[in-house]
Amino acid sequence: PDAPRGVCGADADTMVARNFLRAVASGSACYIHVVENTARNLKKTAETRGVLKGTGALDRLAETFGITAADEYEKAYKVAQAVLDDLYLPDDEEMALVGKLAYKPRYEKWAELGILPGGAKSEVFEAVVKTSTNLNSDPVNMLLDCLKLGIQTGLYGLQLTNLMNDVMLGEPEIRLASVGLSTIDPDYINIMVTGHQHSMFADLQDRLITPDAVAKAVAAGAKGFKLVGCTCVGQDLQLRGAHYTEVFNGHAGNNFTSEAVLATGAIDAVLSEFNCTLPGIEPICDEYAIKQICIDDVAKKANAELRPYDFDTRVELSEYVIDEVVASYTARRGGVVVNIPVHGNDHTLTGVSEYNLKQFLGGDWKPLVDLIVSGKIKGIAGVLGCSNLRGAGHDVLTVELTKELIARDILVLTAGCSSGGIENVGLMTPEAADLAGENLKAVCKQLG
Ligand code: SF4
Repeated sequence: PDAPRGVCGADADTMVARNFLRAVASGSACYIHVVENTARNLKKTAETRGVLKGTGALDRLAETFGITAADEYEKAYKVAQAVLDDLYLPDDEEMALVGKLAYKPRYEKWAELGILPGGAKSEVFEAVVKTSTNLNSDPVNMLLDCLKLGIQTGLYGLQLTNLMNDVMLGEPEIRLASVGLSTIDPDYINIMVTGHQHSMFADLQDRLITPDAVAKAVAAGAKGFKLVGCTCVGQDLQLRGAHYTEVFNGHAGNNFTSEAVLATGAIDAVLSEFNCTLPGIEPICDEYAIKQICIDDVAKKANAELRPYDFDTRVELSEYVIDEVVASYTARRGGVVVNIPVHGNDHTLTGVSEYNLKQFLGGDWKPLVDLIVSGKIKGIAGVLGCSNLRGAGHDVLTVELTKELIARDILVLTAGCSSGGIENVGLMTPEAADLAGENLKAVCKQLG
């Protein structure tokens, strides 16, 4: 900078820390929004004695929380309420579940550093206040708040969202699945879903394969309905896809791939419930006459119809979406060129969770730890999160980084949109073992 301080006297460290904390607060708010809606859906499902497809996951969550109950519904209700209770605490009351979820030595370190988060929503609010004009100017204080927000985002926004989704939608099963644009079947009415809140369209997902819904599709000239996975919620669908093979063919692609998915011409509607429904898809939807429906107003697109999701009116919403999508199919097919390139593969390894991976290893992490201790595998790296266009192009950085890591005998775990690119180029197929270093290759071949 030309001057060491701004006109208010803030130095560069203060400005950078302030901007960073504000960005972290926004990110944390997004994840807390997702876990809040997920917990509310689980609570309502329990109250209405709806379908709980993952009772094993529910039992493990209840045990972790120290919850006992007379039946599965009471258990699910108490689990959801425990999560919501924590989210709504004031910022000076620590959330009760952090100590139950976190690795103990790490929890003790957080306590020592004074970064155990209070109520998650209050922490976001506090960060927004703290970073406003001429408030906090202590960079260390603000960076410690970033760590607090990181803890609540990881444990609640990611971990608990996933585990509660497992309870409602079914637990992941390790299997081989199809990925890429070739998963799109033009004979069906195709709904591309974007977002991060799978439980919001669980009712629609089940409804799409009921005989009377299929009859509507058939009457319009299609074989039925398919959900086309895009963005993180496409990965969610893929993860638990063993439970709904009839309505879901596979994950088509990540955030930026959604443009290409729409350009196939075979998508009849976009249903968005959160990010990343890119603003860039709006003109593509206009061009291809694709109906856009948004079910959470935080993700409202300029040319989408807003139909907010509410658990109590989910059945009516599903009916509405089905009728709108059928109308879109009828209006646009025949007038739009459909061109689906050969893309992706049909044997990507998916459905891996912490729980089933441990089961796969015989109920113990020791075989994996032994491989690392012996030096056969040098370690495990995470290639995670959003794909970006700036690192030499779409998915180039994450794909090339993954190739480098496995060539050096480093196992790669991937999630989020990064995995969309990594799986589409075949790095999650059994044959990818041939690109690994000799030791990692031998381990992969041994596991089959
Ligand atoms: S991984 Fe990132 S880019 Fe992809 S859907 Fe999630 S938030 Fe969006």
